[in-house]
Amino acid sequence: MIIVGGGPSGLAAACEAGNIGAKVSVLERLDTVGGLSRTTVFKGSRFDIGPHRFFTRNAEIQRLFVEVGAGDILNVRRLTRIFYNDRYFNYPLTPLNTLFGVGVPSSAAILASYGIARIKRAIGDSTIENFEDWVVDRFGRHLFETFFKTYTEKVWGIPCTRIAAEWAAQRIKGLSLATAVLNAVFRPQRKIAKSLVDEFAYPRLGAGQLYEKMALRVMQAGNRVRTGARVSRIRRDNWRVVAVEFDDNFGCRHEADGRYFLVSAPLTEMIESMSPAAPPEVLSACRALRYRNHLGVNLIVDGTPFPDNWIYVHSKDVGMARITNYANFSPAMASRAGLSPLTVEYFCRPGDEIWVASEHSLIERAKRELSRMKIVQPNCVLEGFVVRSEKAYPVIEIGYERHIAIIKGWLDGFENLLPIGRSGMFKYNNQDHAMATGLLAARTALGVQRCDPWLVNIDAEYHESRG
Ligand SMILES: Cc1cc2nc3c(=O)[nH]c(=O)nc-3n(C[C@H](O)[C@H](O)[C@H](O)COP(=O)(O)OP(=O)(O)OC[C@H]3O[C@@H](n4cnc5c(N)ncnc54)[C@H](O)[C@@H]3O)c2cc1C
Repeated sequence: MIIVGGGPSGLAAACEAGNIGAKVSVLERLDTVGGLSRTTVFKGSRFDIGPHRFFTRNAEIQRLFVEVGAGDILNVRRLTRIFYNDRYFNYPLTPLNTLFGVGVPSSAAILASYGIARIKRAIGDSTIENFEDWVVDRFGRHLFETFFKTYTEKVWGIPCTRIAAEWAAQRIKGLSLATAVLNAVFRPQRKIAKSLVDEFAYPRLGAGQLYEKMALRVMQAGNRVRTGARVSRIRRDNWRVVAVEFDDNFGCRHEADGRYFLVSAPLTEMIESMSPAAPPEVLSACRALRYRNHLGVNLIVDGTPFPDNWIYVHSKDVGMARITNYANFSPAMASRAGLSPLTVEYFCRPGDEIWVASEHSLIERAKRELSRMKIVQPNCVLEGFVVRSEKAYPVIEIGYERHIAIIKGWLDGFENLLPIGRSGMFKYNNQDHAMATGLLAARTALGVQRCDPWLVNIDAEYHESRG
């Protein structure tokens, strides 16, 4: 079996295929495993690609996480806040903190517009066509404008009116900011399930430690994880993939054949690398899909600038969307006590001003923004580097499902090819869901269970749920 990509989905698939007794080769483009969940070491400090906490409701994935992570899993007390209009708001929101934060007039406006939304809903006067409609319908316009709009548009880079309502339904129904406010303001008597909201599991040496251990398992089972192997062509004979071609770090071309192929490279790239080419309508569906790039400015800072695991930055006057301090996840993330490894996150379009900026100017920009927010003084920043992640977020834009249906319809015809994972299936999957798609795809391919990895639940409720 050939698996393209050594991220959570590819490695979970490789572990499972190895358990079943198959011969497996994982081909990973980068020089390290873990994909978007990898951990990078710089000057002895460790950085993930933004904050990565592990949580799952899937008992099998939980078992795998505990088994692989054995001895290295910490339970981290969660502290996260929102930075908005030069103030910090507890996340989830709490009534007094919110009231003092936004002020009495704004709190009254939130309640009033919530009331209007309820009335509109009761008389059937609300049409839900997009993310904005969905949020306004449930929480009122004022709350939407205050706490949803800026952050969401920073992350996705498109107006909230162009984001599919389905995404809001998946991501927000559990908690996100909205339920936090509602529970805090309207239903304070409801109890929070502390284990879900206040704590999360985290590998001692970063999110990527789990996948480094998983890759080791794959190799100990006699299988291969080849890093620095970028798949550039998928050769097919009608509805059967016969081989993939990949380039190594020296620019040499190689070929790998197998009976089954699981691919976690971005779905659009997978289709575009088919030889012979995919039909025109499939290629044009691909071109209609967009991903959002992620850029992390990683800084080693002297001192402990904030106690939070991460802070959501809603303020419009800075470009960053979130800032993380990994020392607050695990002390082992810092090279020594007293230092803080931070990631300042930006979401980008390919070719936009931030994406193409030099490393030096990005570090200076992050320092300026942190100083403006009074979080870190520039002279406390000791070192920095930038990690760019292309196609990190599939954009769940209105109408995207039509294009996915065309692509999926064509892929379903293949006898021995399955896309897996987050970018590979163009789904807003977290680590656990990505791993689940890998497990199911491996079993389906090897004939031990017939399942459809496309059906892996992407319900976000588990992440922020309340009891
Ligand atoms: C900023 C951010 C924060 C996140 N926070 C969380 C969180 O808190 N909790 C959580 O559970 N999840 C979180 N996630 C999601 C998590 O990172 C992903 O769900 C997970 O990494 C997806 O695994 P995957 O294997 O599907 O894909 P990836 O992690 O993308 O792995 C795919 C792999 O394929 C490789 N590849 C791509 N193309 C090729 C090619 N042509 N040839 C060979 N190899 C190739 C890539 O290099 C990569 O290693 C976050 C993601 C981001 C970006």
